[in-house]
Amino acid sequence: MGHAVLTAKGLRWFRSGHPWVYRDDLGVFECDDGETVDVLDPRGAFCAKAFASAHSKIALRIVSRVPEPVDEAFWDRRIERAIARRAHLLGATDAIRWISSEADGIPGLIADAYRDRLVLASSTAAIDALLASFADRLAERLGMAMVIDRSDGAARDLEGRPRRRGILRGAGDTTVWVFEETPAGRIEYPVDTWGGQKTGAYLDQRENRWAAAKWARGRIADVFCYTGLGALVLSPQADQVIAVDTSEPSLSLGRAAAERNRIANVSFLRANAFEVLKAWQRAGERFDAIVLDPPAFARSRRDLAAAERAYEEINGRALRLLRRDGILITSSCSYHLNEEAFVAVIRRAAARARCDAWILERRGQASDHPVLLALPESRYLTWMALRVHSASLYAG
Ligand code: SAH
Repeated sequence: MGHAVLTAKGLRWFRSGHPWVYRDDLGVFECDDGETVDVLDPRGAFCAKAFASAHSKIALRIVSRVPEPVDEAFWDRRIERAIARRAHLLGATDAIRWISSEADGIPGLIADAYRDRLVLASSTAAIDALLASFADRLAERLGMAMVIDRSDGAARDLEGRPRRRGILRGAGDTTVWVFEETPAGRIEYPVDTWGGQKTGAYLDQRENRWAAAKWARGRIADVFCYTGLGALVLSPQADQVIAVDTSEPSLSLGRAAAERNRIANVSFLRANAFEVLKAWQRAGERFDAIVLDPPAFARSRRDLAAAERAYEEINGRALRLLRRDGILITSSCSYHLNEEAFVAVIRRAAARARCDAWILERRGQASDHPVLLALPESRYLTWMALRVHSASLYAG
């Protein structure tokens, strides 16, 4: 079995509790890609068991800090704990992230269930090697008819793993209807586990979509709507919702969902958000609430300045479209833009638009995407609801 030895600096980092070890913090790294190895301190004493990545800057992902066997029983215990943590979602929805990588002690594995379709996404060689066994174990434990492999995310590039997509178990439709008991009532929506974005849905915004229903009323725009789930949740208390996205396949799933739920006040518009916000401004359109949920503009630290400008632009445009005491619901899923930096971007946008704004509520990602305290990287989503009052203190 391979092993890795921490440098003195690496040992200090390890003791901080962070579950990753960078290659630079290792004096010795004698590990095969994807192997489960012992991590030793500079004197050779046992520190942890970890997954090794031979091609990544993150050379080790810790799976246990005690010298226990990492075997089938070990993974079964991890799975049972992850399932127990999500008990509160049973009955509320059948679209659930059951395994969320490091946050559930299974680094590199995502497991999302949509009704009886289980979608797995592996980001590392170690999980690739275990994927068949996780597919069997999870399918059996969760009663899944089909297992789909969506190991096609950008994270794999950093690990030197090819992106791939496939059916691991079972056969049947890869687009399925799931349900959600939202505060505004039950909604059914389709999820395309094969061609959809991420594993098929943005489960990380689930409770945020519900929270939005506390604040948004009247004429609403849901910008960057994907399949329009946010718009559907808001529809009972809206006069009208306009849901905007550039992706036609996503919008057509949204239209099907509106029909199935007999929702008549949501319209779907294929458009570039930047263009449509500009056009609405020119046309003198006004809204009571605007939801903005763009893709991650900052994919790396290098993108940060450009990303901040893009967030400032769309938020500034949205602020100018709101009626007095309107509601802005805005999100960032860029890990590199932390919560305070995002708040600062919105503050600048509001100052430029000459409006006062009050933060009504701040949230992070959904409860099945837990944030591991020791891993700040596991907190990537910031969601805020603001009340916006154009020109009060700025009225002069
Ligand atoms: N709000 C959605 C998730 C949105 S994800 C939900 O709760 O389910 C971000 C969406 O932005 C994706 O659907 C993507 O297709 C869309 N998108 C990306 N760039 C865009 C642009 N310039 N204009 C409009 N939509 C865009």
